[in-house]
Amino acid sequence: MQDAVLLGVLLAAIAIGFGLGFRYAHRRAQRPSRAPGLSREYFVGLNYLLNEQPDEAIKTFIHALDVNSETVETHIALGKLFRSRGEADKAVGIHQNLLARPALSTTTNEIVQLELARDFIALGVHDRAQRLLRALLEHSSQEDLRLEAKRLLIDLLEREKEWQDALEIVQPLMKQQPAMRRPASHWLCELAQQEIDQSSRALARKHLKKALQLDERCVRATLMLADLDMDNGQYAKAIERLSHIPQQDIAHIPTMLPALQRAYARHDDLAGLETHLYQLLGEAPYTSVIVALGALVHQRDGVDSAIERTGEWLAEAPSLGGLDYLVDLYLESERLMGKETPDTRLMLLKHHTKALMGGRPRQRCRRCGFSSDSLAWQCPSCRRWGTIKPITGVEGE
Ligand SMILES: [Zn+2]
Repeated sequence: MQDAVLLGVLLAAIAIGFGLGFRYAHRRAQRPSRAPGLSREYFVGLNYLLNEQPDEAIKTFIHALDVNSETVETHIALGKLFRSRGEADKAVGIHQNLLARPALSTTTNEIVQLELARDFIALGVHDRAQRLLRALLEHSSQEDLRLEAKRLLIDLLEREKEWQDALEIVQPLMKQQPAMRRPASHWLCELAQQEIDQSSRALARKHLKKALQLDERCVRATLMLADLDMDNGQYAKAIERLSHIPQQDIAHIPTMLPALQRAYARHDDLAGLETHLYQLLGEAPYTSVIVALGALVHQRDGVDSAIERTGEWLAEAPSLGGLDYLVDLYLESERLMGKETPDTRLMLLKHHTKALMGGRPRQRCRRCGFSSDSLAWQCPSCRRWGTIKPITGVEGE
């Protein structure tokens, strides 16, 4: 496909070349002192192309294709093509060749600079790409181009984990571009994590509170603040914070459950945890909530009560994980009854639920479908923030 595109661009280049050759020939007829030769190079290039030597062909065409307002787009298209073929070094050559021409208009010059920045990004030379993009942001008056330069620069800063710089760039845009609030809140969480790693908890709190001001639905900031509260021994405060998470994003109830269980346990309030879990079960009957409640009933009233209650909850919200837990409870019940070897039917069932659950991803990006075992706040595939969430439902959790 790419080769077909390459051929198309080359044929366009040839057509332009012939056009120019024809015009030059016409001018030569009027001014016989001009040197001939342009169309000859096109034939040389065509010969290379026919001999299946596309690299040589391209080199010849570029050399022949004079840089002017009519051919500059062909040069840019060739540069893009090289980059998409993974030959960004050749694209750099084309774009630098264009920039060396003093006759280039300011508008075209800026377009080529943006292309060159893309080449450097493709080559992994991020500092040079950053310099070009920052210069464009500072000097360009083309709104579309500035927007694209900003997008590329933000993407680069994210890759380099330069969160503070990224925040400074989007800060003035928050009102016009509300979609930037979510990534910015995650950058603040990243900064907070850096502060926590350096034991600067007060600064971390400041970043996290700002993250929630930017995006009140930022589950990550709430979880991190609750963790900081727990480190300070403020369990009730942590519980209060965590209780907002279902309103922030109901899909993250399974994400916050371990923190909630920890907070209640340290607060020595298992009755409070049970009430809280029943409340969550009413909001969304996730398997992890059912299993957590089953464990509490098991601990307090024994395994048979746990079997009975778990069976009732699963009748309302059946799931593979729930069934697996129920089988565990039955096996435990048999063990307590003094059976030396477990029931083979139960063991077979356990074998099947385990096999069906094994190897299944636990988290999925709601944007691009990327799935993984652990939660990442930025999707490694589509690079969006906060789109990966626990997989729930019959086969989830
Ligand atoms: Zn994704």
